[in-house]
Amino acid sequence: MEEQAKAGEVLKSLAEDVAEVAAYLRELGVEGLEGLSAEAAAPTPPRREQAPRAAASVPPALRRNASAERPAPTPQRPLPPPPPPSKTQRPRAGETAAPPDILYQSSDMPTKKPVRKPSPDPPEPRETLFGDITPKDDLSLGRPGETFEDIRADIGECVRCPLHQGRTHIVHTEGQTAARLMFVGEAPGADEDESGRPFVGRAGQLLNKIIEAIGLKREDVLIGNVNRCRPPGNRTPTTEEARTCKPFLLREINVARPDVIVVLGNTAMKNLLDTKEGITRLRGQFQDYRGIKVMPTFHPAYLLRDPSKKREVWDDMKKVRDYLNSTKK
Ligand code: SF4
Repeated sequence: MEEQAKAGEVLKSLAEDVAEVAAYLRELGVEGLEGLSAEAAAPTPPRREQAPRAAASVPPALRRNASAERPAPTPQRPLPPPPPPSKTQRPRAGETAAPPDILYQSSDMPTKKPVRKPSPDPPEPRETLFGDITPKDDLSLGRPGETFEDIRADIGECVRCPLHQGRTHIVHTEGQTAARLMFVGEAPGADEDESGRPFVGRAGQLLNKIIEAIGLKREDVLIGNVNRCRPPGNRTPTTEEARTCKPFLLREINVARPDVIVVLGNTAMKNLLDTKEGITRLRGQFQDYRGIKVMPTFHPAYLLRDPSKKREVWDDMKKVRDYLNSTKK
């Protein structure tokens, strides 16, 4: 038995040597050695746990190649965790989350913005946080119980229309806030811009004479303009400039509630009465502005250029005087 075991060991050793030589020859490109392996050559030994072959038993050349055939596995670095999905990528309750790669892809794609449908009912006109005024009903902008001081405070250092760019002073309405008679012109001129007061130039001095001609003094009446800043070169204010500034005048009218407003010149008349009729056609005839009598007449500056029109203005002012006298309280 002992001899048999020794013979087996020798045979096994020989078979391993043959297999190693065969492997070496295969490395060199020799073909036809398929049957030569340690297992094929050696008698079947009793099965036992196969220990890894010691590197020392392999010739150096084979050892190098063997290690090249089976490279040692490189330790893999753990992958960084995927980035957390952004808020827009996070599925809502009830939705199924798409795989991450789809999520990243979809985030690069342009998204279609929702179209907001216009409201069937446009919002009411209002004064915005920044002072913009979008009047539909101008008087609705006034607050119950407001005063001239409140309105002036609202105007502030107004930049609501382009006329602020060339002004020196804002020219506010001045006079007796409880007056029965109010005069309204178009916009300040050079003298008014300089002084900050309405109707103080040559045209203003003529207006003072007209007021005195009907038995009143300047201090007894209210005097203002549709626009409070001087247009460059004394040009006519644009419709938009007049529309922007007019609400302040209308609020003052609503506070003062005079019995008669004398509107001076074509531009002021059209802006106050919202009419397309010209001054030549409407002057001398009482008009109505929210229950207040309005008398259109020529602007004093026009009278300075054409003094022959003073008679017509005098006729118009006599009607105003007579109305005031007939309604004296
Ligand atoms: S004209 Fe009237 S609206 Fe325009 S900037 Fe002057 S105060 Fe403001």
